[in-house]
Amino acid sequence: MSMNYEFLGGNLALDFANTVHSHGMVDPCDDLKTAADLVEWAAQAGLLRDREARQVGRARDDEVRFRRAVALRELLYEIFSRAAQGKRPRREALQALQGLYRNATRHAEFQVEANHYRLTWSAIDPLERVSQEIIRSAADLLTSEALTRVRQCSGETCSWLFVDSSRNGMRRWCDMQACGNRAKVRRFRRNLGRVVGTSSRRGG
Ligand SMILES: [Zn+2]
Repeated sequence: MSMNYEFLGGNLALDFANTVHSHGMVDPCDDLKTAADLVEWAAQAGLLRDREARQVGRARDDEVRFRRAVALRELLYEIFSRAAQGKRPRREALQALQGLYRNATRHAEFQVEANHYRLTWSAIDPLERVSQEIIRSAADLLTSEALTRVRQCSGETCSWLFVDSSRNGMRRWCDMQACGNRAKVRRFRRNLGRVVGTSSRRGG
């Protein structure tokens, strides 16, 4: 079963963190349970071409890369949920991201795109490249004024992070309409799972 991921965060690193719903609450829900889920998410994010998406997510190394990506996601959530509270990241968290960024830049190369260049990681494994793109986006956000615009949704069961690009900087919801509905659908699916006795952990 594939799903349609939402990209409302205004930054790839936040969108990645948002693949966990209700983070830190009693009933969190993770959209990414396998390497294949990560591949699907990355394809929908425009990070992988279809051909690549079909190739990755099956090798044994992909499982290691997937677990590393999940750890990265946790780190990003920690850093940017603190930013949403106006707090600096913990020193260890910042150092961890620093290390990942250093490693990412070491393998980055310039690739021509229209009238300028962009950084890319064409020489490495596609799933690894996905993580590098996410790390780069996190660094972009961390080193820009937009960091002061990182918010966490006020929805009761929503933990989503987003960059508030509204003029007055008072946006409180990841998405006013979708947020409430999303929680409702997840509750419904969970209850349905209980009724028919199947695992309710699958899906989102
Ligand atoms: Zn929300």
